Amino acid sequence: MVFRTFLLKYGEIGIKGKNRGQFEDALVAQVRYALEKVEGEFEVSKEQGRIYVNALGAEDSFDAEEVIQALQRVFGLVGICQVLKMPVSDPERIAENAVSFMAQTYHMTPAPEGAEAEVKMASPEEDAMTFKVHTRRANKQYPMSSMDVDALVGERLLSAFPGRMKVDVHHPEVMVYVEIREEVYIYSRIIPGPGGMPVGTNGRAQLLLSGGIDSPVAGWMIAKRGVILDATYFHAPPYTSERAKQKVVDLAKLVARYSGPIRLHVVNFTDIQLAIYDKCPHDELTIIMRRYMMKIAERFAQQDGSMGLITGESIGQVASQTIQSLVCTDDAASMPVFRPLIGFDKQDIIDLSLKIGTYDTSIQPFEDCCTIFVAKHPVTKPRLDIIKRSEEKLKDIIDDMLETAVNSAETIRIS
Ligand code: ATP
Ligand code: MG
Repeated sequence: MVFRTFLLKYGEIGIKGKNRGQFEDALVAQVRYALEKVEGEFEVSKEQGRIYVNALGAEDSFDAEEVIQALQRVFGLVGICQVLKMPVSDPERIAENAVSFMAQTYHMTPAPEGAEAEVKMASPEEDAMTFKVHTRRANKQYPMSSMDVDALVGERLLSAFPGRMKVDVHHPEVMVYVEIREEVYIYSRIIPGPGGMPVGTNGRAQLLLSGGIDSPVAGWMIAKRGVILDATYFHAPPYTSERAKQKVVDLAKLVARYSGPIRLHVVNFTDIQLAIYDKCPHDELTIIMRRYMMKIAERFAQQDGSMGLITGESIGQVASQTIQSLVCTDDAASMPVFRPLIGFDKQDIIDLSLKIGTYDTSIQPFEDCCTIFVAKHPVTKPRLDIIKRSEEKLKDIIDDMLETAVNSAETIRIS
């Protein structure tokens, strides 16, 4: 038997009233997006505060594991259940289906009728999987109470799997859910979803995306709160290679598996970096460069309709991320700068990047524009007034250079 229906559970806290419809519509849109790349044809529907995915076509036209993996990237989902869906029928028929469902889900063979005593002796009950049946009768026309359905299904399971299953209503190892609605749904496992909010419910922000470990994770975290992402990448040809740029495109693609499509702006930063190198104190290079990155990213944010910037900074990680350095960088932007990794240790960030699947790409060894013009001894406690005074040296050329950098940027649509 192939179970071709998936029941999707979502967190409902804080989404009452009008927001609820918006939340659900965004979630349905994201579920459809996630399934676009999965083999098979799927129908996504919203019914009575639930979202269902139905696999259409032949039984072997889809792979349930692949469907589940794709759904585990949809923010807003807290649980994914593969369910047996059947028409509303008499309780015996429901119990029979519950037996088939459990047999298949937990790889058990139902005993032939009357074989109960024999099997019981062969496998002592201590090894039995404990379970509890929970019936919800949303369809109040149904002639049997939920407690009676619980009891009947429980009994049929016990006699189908003698010695293998045992009732424990307090701490069951597995649950058997029976939901009687317009149709009947039977399921057991609830595979955790990523949580968060559906992308599209909380505005848009511009990610400063480098080829490192941190910034893709930062983007993922903000997208998880329902924010649509766009990104800006600064490269410095010929000092940085085409391959380094491709790595950032690859990272953007990996983030887009969760966030949905991303507009990636690739900015040629070479002339600005050379000008800073030429005119400003070398120990301030990184800070000054960061400040211009903020200003340029903010221009794209305005163009894209974003309300904030996102970086992968974390306090004290490197010289350019001390509190004093962050003060200087922050001052360059007039929009709020979101730094979701601010209190994370590097290892926490690495663990997350492994979990979301960006790590292997991030550690590919390609040069970044920041590492090329880096000073031997960068300031660790820059003062904003001094930094601004150093920037004065660029005042005759920088506006034109910023304009050129923005206007000559290449925009790549990532999905
Ligand atoms: P990451 O792993 O994100 O590269 P990092 O530890 O290398 O971080 P820095 O190089 O100091 O840290 O960069 C701090 C932040 O500045 C990055 O997380 C990113 O948001 C932004 N940034 C740095 N370099 C670039 C770049 N070339 N293009 C776009 N953003 C950048
Ligand atoms: Mg970096």
